[in-house]
Amino acid sequence: MSRPPAIRARKLEKRYAGGVHALKGIDLDIPQGSLFGLLGPNGAGKSTFINILAGLVTKTSGKVDIWGFDIDDNPRNARVSIGVVPQELVFDAFFTPWEMLEVQAGMYGVPKHQRRTEELLRAVRLWDKRDAYSRTLSGGMKRRLLVAKAMVHSPPVLILDEPTAGVDIELRQQLWGYVRELNARGVTIVLTTHYLEEAEELCDTIAIINHGEVICCEPTPQLLARIDEKEIVLDLDAPLKEVPEAFRRFHTRQPRPDRLVIQISRQEVDLDAVIAAIHEAGLRIRDLRTSETDLEDIFLQLTRADDAEAQREPVR
Ligand code: ADP
Repeated sequence: MSRPPAIRARKLEKRYAGGVHALKGIDLDIPQGSLFGLLGPNGAGKSTFINILAGLVTKTSGKVDIWGFDIDDNPRNARVSIGVVPQELVFDAFFTPWEMLEVQAGMYGVPKHQRRTEELLRAVRLWDKRDAYSRTLSGGMKRRLLVAKAMVHSPPVLILDEPTAGVDIELRQQLWGYVRELNARGVTIVLTTHYLEEAEELCDTIAIINHGEVICCEPTPQLLARIDEKEIVLDLDAPLKEVPEAFRRFHTRQPRPDRLVIQISRQEVDLDAVIAAIHEAGLRIRDLRTSETDLEDIFLQLTRADDAEAQREPVR
């Protein structure tokens, strides 16, 4: 028998008092044990969804279960089944990391002998900072401390809201390392992000949410196979009158006379061929970059793909 999802939302709606329709009937199953990415641009409704799970925002209608507990019928059990790492770094500046975890464990009623304060501080590499005032910690350290704080009651589900905001690359890797470790130990992880690359690197399943609706929810490789475009942008030393012969084999566009954009498939990035074409055409390059995948473009691609599929369906 398959296990029930860690989180199940049905027809979940949220209208804020000002009239914003932030969630428009979300249906979502987050599998137990997954490392699940909730991906969407700013304003899509990700935080609203997370805050409803955390009990910080009340839903307008619909049903949500966390670890099998309905948040309306069984709010206390639902609440202790998740740990939430908030987006904002909110701290009592005069607590030390050690004190903060102890106080949090006390709030959850974790008995002294079951507390994991040392283990958690070591896991997030803050053991040597255990007695420092929190206000003296860097942004990355604070973020890691919040992860530890969310785990004091050993919840089976950990939720991270935009966890890499303000975290530099090295600390991000450490944070990811710990998140992966928790996941390997069986903790279901849900993280929100507006970076496809981040979800791609970390998550085994990705749901995309836009304007309060879930556009798709599938295993990461399956999703990536559908998002097949990437761009290489060449800024040139001199303007071009037309696309050089050597680039005719690629899909290109020229948004400015001194810029050449090459559209390639993510699956078949052949940089050697691009570099060879640059040499062949004798181009002098001022700057070369690959463009970040724009989520709005992905939505367009996905909706276009769905439309095309619908058109192929025979009419019955
Ligand atoms: P995301 O986390 O994906 O950036 P949010 O859930 O924060 O998206 O926001 C979804 C929509 O709801 C946005 O239009 C936002 O302006 C609106 N919104 C969020 N919080 C509130 C609030 N407390 N009151 C009114 N509108 C809100």
